[in-house]
Amino acid sequence: MSDRTSVYINGQWTAPAGNGRIAVENPATESTFAYVPEGTAADVDRAVAAARDAFPAWSQTSPAYRRDVLQALADGMATRTQEFAETITAEMGAPAGIAAAIQAPLPQTIVRSYVDILENFEWSYEVGNTLVAREAAGVVGAITPWNYPLHQIICKLSPALAAGCTFVLKPSELTPLSAYLLFDVLHELGLPPGVVNLVPGYGSEVGAALAGHPGLDVASFTGSVASGAKVAEAAAPNITRVTLELGGKSANVILDDADLKLAVKIGIAKAFLNCGQTCTAWTRMLVPSHMYEEALQFATGFAESYIMGDPTLTTTKLGPLASKAQRDKVRGLIDTAVSEGARVVTGGSAAPDDLPVGYYVRPTVLADVRPDSTIAQTEVFGPVLAVMSYDGDDEAVAIANDSDYGLHGGVWSADIDRAMSVARRMRTGSVDINGAAYNPIAPFGGYKKSGYGRELGAAGMDEYLSLKSIGRP
Ligand code: NAD
Repeated sequence: MSDRTSVYINGQWTAPAGNGRIAVENPATESTFAYVPEGTAADVDRAVAAARDAFPAWSQTSPAYRRDVLQALADGMATRTQEFAETITAEMGAPAGIAAAIQAPLPQTIVRSYVDILENFEWSYEVGNTLVAREAAGVVGAITPWNYPLHQIICKLSPALAAGCTFVLKPSELTPLSAYLLFDVLHELGLPPGVVNLVPGYGSEVGAALAGHPGLDVASFTGSVASGAKVAEAAAPNITRVTLELGGKSANVILDDADLKLAVKIGIAKAFLNCGQTCTAWTRMLVPSHMYEEALQFATGFAESYIMGDPTLTTTKLGPLASKAQRDKVRGLIDTAVSEGARVVTGGSAAPDDLPVGYYVRPTVLADVRPDSTIAQTEVFGPVLAVMSYDGDDEAVAIANDSDYGLHGGVWSADIDRAMSVARRMRTGSVDINGAAYNPIAPFGGYKKSGYGRELGAAGMDEYLSLKSIGRP
């Protein structure tokens, strides 16, 4: 993985306006292994101008043509699956197994889902004497995080291109290399100049300039609540449409007739996936009080079976956290939890004895967590599970909903109707019953401070379309 010195604007790798550069660090070795340019507002200006120039012609291309483009994109990504996986492991520490099973291939699945959607997409419908046309919304500015760096980009790029929008990307400063690799693939497709553009850089400079750019029609953001609020604020004066995919504090509600061992096992897996750096992570486990100690025993056993270490090894299940700042934040939150009365059942904030280098945090299970405590309310983004007890379904729902967030959740019960009733009462954008499989075409997004707008599937395309009503006599 070598240094990158250009930005991608108007169909070309071109010199950035400034001289600054960003070091890309491997969180397992704590060493810099590549540099990318530190983009500036001047680069954003050029990129948005190119995207605006490209929009009229691109938005008028046929859906069949754009479908072929997306098919070629998926095929191009597939030829580099291994390179994507290794790049993501190096830049954010995802273990090789997760990089190969999720980080690299899932984005290809998402691109292909839009190939399918374009096959039968309804571009217009009739209401009385009016033809309602779905038209491309315009120039999209996408700002993405580091936890699933390629997936988060693709969740925006695929529907935007399918809809006929043009695109400017600002990837996370922690994970720009997977974005560069994607743009290598895009460049090989020979798209018209300006359809896709890449400006790496920091959020406070490039992200803010993009979100607040008057030439932008849609700002699509995935990241933290604090940054999302800034994006919405920057976009407001231009009346730029905003989509926000923000954080989560999802509850895994285990009802008293559930298969406890399975519910805890899958619950731990969902909490610790990608070392807990998953927006949908089930970080709060809710267990009936009479099953609480048994659940803790299961949780301890499963958590301790997770092998932590070198993310390049396929036996590793937990790699390092993505950065020093993230590691320090997670350790601090474990300490705060303990100071507020939580009991460490396994793990804890101390550095792992055998891993002196790398931003590792022990897989941690916390018991006796109060629903109003910091650890129960704050998004941790690390391998930390808070286990809470409840009595009765009503209390379970109340605790699950006692959160500023509302992204995801789980319910476990032998009775599907009962599980469905609890799922319906949870104020979240999605809920999985009994560990249901991930559905890449179901609408994905948040309630409350988890954001607004939806990604994935046909609902994801709505974010990049405008409705035009054409009345006829
Ligand atoms: P972050 O908010 O720090 O950064 C996200 C992106 O925003 C980065 O590209 C960053 O450079 C940029 N940014 C920062 N400040 C900005 C500003 N003022 N204006 C414009 N852009 C700015 O988040 P992160 O630490 O990269 O990612 C972790 C967060 O993302 C977590 O809260 C997680 O839950 C959330 N997330 C949400 C989803 C989802 O779909 N809901 C998916 C993945 C991650």
